[in-house]
Amino acid sequence: MLRFVDIDQAYPEKRSETERRQDFNEIYRPFDPVKAKDQASRCSQCGIPFCQSGCPLHNNIPDWLMLAGEGRLEEAYEISSATSTMPEICGRICPQDRLCEGSCVVEKSGHGAVTIGAVEQYITDTAWKEGWVKPIRPGAPRGASVGIVGSGPAGLAAAEKLCEAGYAVTVYERSDRAGGLLMYGIPGFKLDKAVVQRRLDRLTEAGVEIRTGFEVGRDATLADLRSEHHAVLLATGVYAARQLTCPGAGDGVIAALDYLTRSNRNDLGDAPDSGDRLSAKGKRVVVIGGGDTAMDCVRTAVRQGAASVTCLYRRDRENMPGSAREVKHAEEEGVVFEWLSSPLAVLTKGEAITAVRVQGMRLGAPDVSGRRAPEPEPGRTFDVGADMVISALGFSPEDIPALFQAPDLETHRDGRIDGDLATKMTSLDGVFVAGDLHRGASLVVWAIRDGMDAARSIESYLSNRLQVLGAAE
Ligand code: FAD
Ligand code: SF4
Ligand code: SF4
Repeated sequence: MLRFVDIDQAYPEKRSETERRQDFNEIYRPFDPVKAKDQASRCSQCGIPFCQSGCPLHNNIPDWLMLAGEGRLEEAYEISSATSTMPEICGRICPQDRLCEGSCVVEKSGHGAVTIGAVEQYITDTAWKEGWVKPIRPGAPRGASVGIVGSGPAGLAAAEKLCEAGYAVTVYERSDRAGGLLMYGIPGFKLDKAVVQRRLDRLTEAGVEIRTGFEVGRDATLADLRSEHHAVLLATGVYAARQLTCPGAGDGVIAALDYLTRSNRNDLGDAPDSGDRLSAKGKRVVVIGGGDTAMDCVRTAVRQGAASVTCLYRRDRENMPGSAREVKHAEEEGVVFEWLSSPLAVLTKGEAITAVRVQGMRLGAPDVSGRRAPEPEPGRTFDVGADMVISALGFSPEDIPALFQAPDLETHRDGRIDGDLATKMTSLDGVFVAGDLHRGASLVVWAIRDGMDAARSIESYLSNRLQVLGAAE
């Protein structure tokens, strides 16, 4: 260990830009075993591991790095999987520069962070390959059932933990495939769908029932689920897209998630790209937004064969919400970024979009959040030619109390479901909440953390309740 002085930071090898632009496969090649071992051995085994504090799951990072550095991969996997239900997924898509690796002391010392995420992915990918990932062992039946609404990372993490604890679990999912944004939001070049599917299979093989095509609000009310199960977890994410409101931004502007879902479906083999309005093939594409969703849209458009792809973001590179690593990948793949740019109008000729008129911005005084607020820069406007405009301005929760016919379900002003910070119980007895629906649009790793926390809380709620019911009999 401590080899960060003589071994430089290295990530797994990336495929060439030309190759990447042709397909939707992951951009990194598998980590070379010798390199992965070397990279793990760069860790300085800190007494106070800041990386662990930077990880929402508080993964035991130094321990599995040490074991991986010594070539003891099966033990490394045991440690890594003890705190996470999907380590290989987090290793692929966590914005590590803002989490574990951003907190690593080796990064702070100027030597380049230990490549924690890549090693985490390598350990668990190896575990799958070697058969070390064992089937989930359902706990002794507790005679109670839990209904989980939503099969994204929050719902799936909770399902696994509750199954292990001996509860009968049914997951209700409105889409035709389970996985939430892991399946239909995040593109395959960041997260191979087979990696998600094997996690889903492991759950169903353990007896977790996943009922796809079941929309709570349409096929059942929340009251129905409460009478069918001893506890209910709400993990439906946030799906109300913020609209682009400038002049000309009508039906011709495409919502990011419609675009990405269709592309993921194409990639999953549902139907070939038919070159319709949701296809970027041969078009000049402008994507508006600066988060992970916008980055996924620009990089998808490149792969669909767009004639050009431009991203408009109203702040600068340093102040964008998306991962810096993703911007770098997008630039490598040919995306043009217009920083400090905000749409003034979408220009059209008849039905067809022809350009986006852009207002140049500058950063003014910091706002209440401490970020410098963008303001128009007088005299700087320009047009960017466009045939297709995609709006990726973020998401808010849907009106869940109305949809689920549960007016007593309390929400925050922005529509997030209110839940006790410690127990995640909502205003309704036995109804819990986790993931984006509780904290607002966030990250997969936080959804996993919430799902695991909610499962613990549901277990304790049900243990008490079953004791009370048992005593009454
Ligand atoms: P979701 O993953 O949204 O799952 C909710 C599920 O509930 C969905 O399957 C939905 O169909 C279902 N559902 C909704 N309503 C109902 C209903 N009424 N009845 C039944 N089912 C219902 N995070 C990262 O960490 N890294 C990334 O690289 C990253 N990239 C992203 C890219 C995109 C395009 C987007 C949109 C988000 C990205 N995120 C990323 C964020 C991350 O995907 C989310 O924070 C995470 O998926 C939230 O998990 P969740 O389980 O709360 O909700
Ligand atoms: Fe880093 Fe995410 Fe893994 Fe935590 S879960 S160690 S933040 S990659
Ligand atoms: Fe290792 Fe970096 Fe964590 Fe320290 S902060 S234990 S060097 S990974």
